[in-house]
This record gives sequence, C-alpha cells and structure tokens, in this order.
Amino acid sequence: MSFLTLDHLQKSFGTTRVVHGFDLSVEKGEFVSFLGPSGCGKTTVLRMVAGFETPSAGRVVIDGQDVTRARPNQRRIGMVFQSYALFPNLTVAENVGFGLKVGGVPRAERAGRVTEMLELIGLPDLGGRYPWQLSGGQQQRVALARALAPRPRVLLLDEPLSALDAKIRVSLRNQIREIQQQLGITTIFVTHDQEEALSISDRIVVMHKGVADQIGTPAQIYNQPATDFVAGFVGTLNRFAAEVLDPARGIVRVEGAEIALDRPLSLGGVTLAARPESLRIAEHGIPAEITGVEFLGSVQRLRARVGGQEVVLDRFNEPGAALPQPGVRVHLTAPPSGWLVLGE
Ligand code: ATP
Repeated sequence: MSFLTLDHLQKSFGTTRVVHGFDLSVEKGEFVSFLGPSGCGKTTVLRMVAGFETPSAGRVVIDGQDVTRARPNQRRIGMVFQSYALFPNLTVAENVGFGLKVGGVPRAERAGRVTEMLELIGLPDLGGRYPWQLSGGQQQRVALARALAPRPRVLLLDEPLSALDAKIRVSLRNQIREIQQQLGITTIFVTHDQEEALSISDRIVVMHKGVADQIGTPAQIYNQPATDFVAGFVGTLNRFAAEVLDPARGIVRVEGAEIALDRPLSLGGVTLAARPESLRIAEHGIPAEITGVEFLGSVQRLRARVGGQEVVLDRFNEPGAALPQPGVRVHLTAPPSGWLVLGE
C-alpha cells in the first residue's frame, strides 16, 4: 500500500470545477513533482493535501489514515512556500524551532533539533540572525528547516525556488533533493519549470486543466509522452504532418521524403514529432533550409525551415567542425527511436 493516496480528488470554487477526479499514489520516501502551466490546479491539489482546502469530493489518505477532513496541524505535514514566509521578528533558530514550540517539545530537545536542522541545511552558524540579514536562498533553506524540524510525514513544496536567481535555483534544488534523500521523506514539489521537475523527481505528474495527463519517471515523461499536451509542454518538440504509406512497416511520407519508423501504424494521416536532439542533418530526408545558428556552448541550436514552419535541431559542439550557414539547403532525419507519433 502506498504512503500517500489521493483518491479521486475534486475541487470546485463556486460552479467552476478546477480539479477533476485526481488520483495519485506516492510511495514512502518518493519525490513527486506536480508540473503544469499556471492555473492547471497544482496548488489546489497541494493545498488539499495540506488541509488548507477541503475537497469537494474524494479522499486524502496518509499512512493508512484518512485525513480528508483533518485540520492542517493534525496532518503532520511540513510545507514550504515560494515566499519563504519566515517570521521577521524571530531569529533563524526561533523560526526553525517554531513548530516544535507550538507542538510542546521541551526546550532542551528543541535546541538540539534546531542545531541538527541548521546543520542539515548547511547554515550551522546563522541561528542568531534575523531573516532580513539572510539572502533569498538562505531564507528558503531556513524555511525548509522550519518545515522539517517537527519531523513531518510528508513535505510539500509549493514553487519554493521561483523567487530565486537562476544560479541559486539550481544549487538549492540539488540541495533540497539531497536533504530529501538523506531523510527519506515523502515529498511533493509543485513547479511550472520542466527542467526543475525533470532534474529532481522520482516521478512527475504532468497536470493540465485539473487532471493528471501523465504520471511517470522523468525519462518516461520526456521520451514517451502520453498525450499531445505532455509532448508539447515538456521539452521542445518539432512536429511534421505525415501521410502513412505502408502501415505494417511504418513507412510515412513527410514533405515528399519517405521515413521508416520502427512500429506499425494505422492508415491515414499522423503527426510525427522529434526532439531537437533527435533531428540530424543527413544525405536523405526531409528537405529543409537552415535559417539560423545559435552557439550555446556545449550545444549548437540550428533553426531550419521545413515547408511553411520552422524546426529546431541541436548538435553537440565539436571544436573545429564547420557550422551550416543560413540559406544552406539540407535534409533532416531522425533514427526510428527518435520519432514520436502523435494523435494516433
Ligand atoms: P499557478 O502556478 O498559477 O499557481 P496552479 O496550477 O497552481 O497555477 P491553482 O492555483 O491550483 O493553479 O488554480 C487552479 C484554478 O483554480 C485557477 O483557475 C484559479 O483561478 C482557481 N482558483 C484557485 N483558488 C481559488 C479560489 N480560492 N477561489 C476561486 N478560484 C480559485
């Protein structure tokens, strides 16, 4: 049995339903991200897990206990918000110890736990400071320590990195993942940033209009998107209208070029799609004209026109290798495993 179960959760505000029958099972110690565009219902689901919103229907079960109607403080959940939300008039140590004090943990034990938490987040010497004396990244680490100090059963993180600079964001996300694994704490992380979700999750729930479009490992989500929406939302995708020529052998035609896929298809029209890293320049393939070259360091991003649309392909940097120039005509292809077939 899973540690956290969301059983057909629904939520309406007035007559508008924003979460439609959301099901999810999370294992103990698992790190699951909710990924989706603004307004898809990520925060609403998280707030139902935390107890800040009451579901219109469905259940929240933690460790075998139905907490659907339990108050937030009865759920033993730790939460971190985008805005840090530290108490400005309390020191770092007092902030971290706040939940313990409210929970009636004796002073000596509290002090020990605060020291342990400050070490865990790598700020052992900053207990006496006030939040305004810390950087944004440090404040968010304190917020994490405060959430973890009462030893919650589940950690909920609502866009905790969104207010930080890009560089801090990357280092803090790695730190969050390390701490989460060290403690083995079951975690849900809400983000609209696909790179963030792909980099730190055991599994990702891609949400769209109040439902889970796909639940899978980062590799499954990226390599085998279950819906058109997931395919387009996670990563960059080039799409090509294709006509199926030989359904049994999976041969299609795109812009006059024949392409062999590695799977049988149904007859008719399909949309083929390929990630930028799967597309290559080859002797034969889809006719294209290079329209732009961007040098991004480890990768070169080429833009090319195919029919009436622009596609993007990435090549690893090879020092000394000549780059195709805008205006050059080329052919594009991908290995059979690099083609996604959408809308079948
Ligand atoms: P964001 O990343 O922008 O926070 P989200 O995916 O977390 O987006 P939610 O905040 O869960 O989305 O909102 C889902 C939908 O529910 C939105 O259309 C939002 O306007 C609506 N909504 C959320 N809270 C309320 C509320 N208290 N009253 C009315 N509508 C609400």
